[in-house]
Amino acid sequence: MTTVLFATSEVHPLVKTGGLADISGSLPPALRALGHDVRLILPAYPQVLARCERLMTLVKLIPLQGAPTPVRILEGILPDTDVPVYLVDCPTYFDRMGGIYGDATGDWPDNPQRFTLFSRAVVALTKGWPGLVWKPEVVHCNDWQTGLVPALLSLEEYRPKTIFTIHNLSYQGVFSWGTFVELGLPMGLWSLEGLEFYGRLSFIKGGLAYADRLTTVSPTYAREIRTPTFGYGLEGLIESRAERLFGILNGANYDHWDPQNDPYLPYHYSAADFSGKSANKAALQRHFGLPVRSDVVLFGFVGRMVEQKGFDLVLSCLPEWTQHQLQIVVLGSGDPVFEQGSQVLATRFPAQVAVRVGYDEALAHLIEAGADAFLMPSRFEPCGLNQLYSLRYGTLPVVRRTGGLADTVVDATPENIAAGRATGFVFNAATQASLNKTLVRVLNLYYNNPTIWKRMIEFAMAADYGWDKSARTYADLYQHAMVG
Ligand code: ADP
Repeated sequence: MTTVLFATSEVHPLVKTGGLADISGSLPPALRALGHDVRLILPAYPQVLARCERLMTLVKLIPLQGAPTPVRILEGILPDTDVPVYLVDCPTYFDRMGGIYGDATGDWPDNPQRFTLFSRAVVALTKGWPGLVWKPEVVHCNDWQTGLVPALLSLEEYRPKTIFTIHNLSYQGVFSWGTFVELGLPMGLWSLEGLEFYGRLSFIKGGLAYADRLTTVSPTYAREIRTPTFGYGLEGLIESRAERLFGILNGANYDHWDPQNDPYLPYHYSAADFSGKSANKAALQRHFGLPVRSDVVLFGFVGRMVEQKGFDLVLSCLPEWTQHQLQIVVLGSGDPVFEQGSQVLATRFPAQVAVRVGYDEALAHLIEAGADAFLMPSRFEPCGLNQLYSLRYGTLPVVRRTGGLADTVVDATPENIAAGRATGFVFNAATQASLNKTLVRVLNLYYNNPTIWKRMIEFAMAADYGWDKSARTYADLYQHAMVG
């Protein structure tokens, strides 16, 4: 049994902007189910204070370097689990309207101060908070917001082992040298081998350079970030630590994402009893005001409307696609140009294209259940969760061969179909031509080979990407880190 403090800036169902929250909400309970004492720590944003269960004050006031006022620590429980949650309550930094990293005008300018304070609170916990006897053997950090934790802990004589997981290397938390000085970080951390990145302060380097073990969220992404294309100048450092880097695939949380008992769905279904799927398709078409037709293939897209997700490719292909018998529903938000571009297309092709700009958990579930195929043509994708949900919902994913998409979706080649392995459509080049060619393959199979389509759905729904296996791999890694 290992004691683990899981430090994260977001966790489902308390607060979520993306996949990090899903993982933070799923991995700790899965590890606890294996007998490990895993606890979460995150900032006390207002949405978290509103949703966390059994909240009480653990530490009234602790002084922390950089805190405008002494910080309060609250303790609660992650809803529907037995995972203890520690909340770092510093209203000046965390109690504000808008998003947790910024608002419509951009990132919060004091993000370096906010996440340095959070990191200092994590370090303080490992040294012992008043009133808390528990101490972690391992601190598991996630993304740049917690990058300073391994760096600061590296200066301690007695410290827990540190794991740093890269969920997305393109977000690095890079700020000025002046910010480094202002934050009062130890000068010993300022070096090429440390936090310095081309004369600037890089939070993510704190994790990459100082953590005892590095992980990322798929084996393919673990290889990709060692190359210039995906490494953003950090590939040299990552390569130098390659023997300590592991690619561990994220799991899907089937407690939340299973068409047999998904509370968001009007109709439940399984591979054995599939009739609910077409009822959900009709419900989805009705929801979006599209013609209710069972004989037209319906594509879904859910996610951030950004280049990373290849959403620009989808937009540039769409006018041509409307010449075919197909419908597409889109849910997401992101780049305002893409948000508007998609809405323009929805107005132009109202019988085929429907768009909802925004964040809507219930609708995301209905799209997974009601669509026939799911578009995810990402330029890079550390792991990706929606393709895992799509597989479980029998909604064949159409993906680019990158990162976790390459590791989880098996292309519908004749050999893979014959071998009972094919679960979706995979293409290589991030180009309009390549996506168009794939569309032709999808349409051909959907309209001309319904038997094969149905068999692929069965393979997809039978694929197991639950958390159990990944949680065991993390548990082994913690053990591994503790012995050396
Ligand atoms: P990301 O790179 O954004 O983390 P992932 O595929 O790893 O991508 O995870 C995205 C998660 O966020 C999924 O659970 C997905 O359903 C959800 N999601 C993304 N955008 C939306 C939205 N507009 N409405 C509802 N859920 C969304």
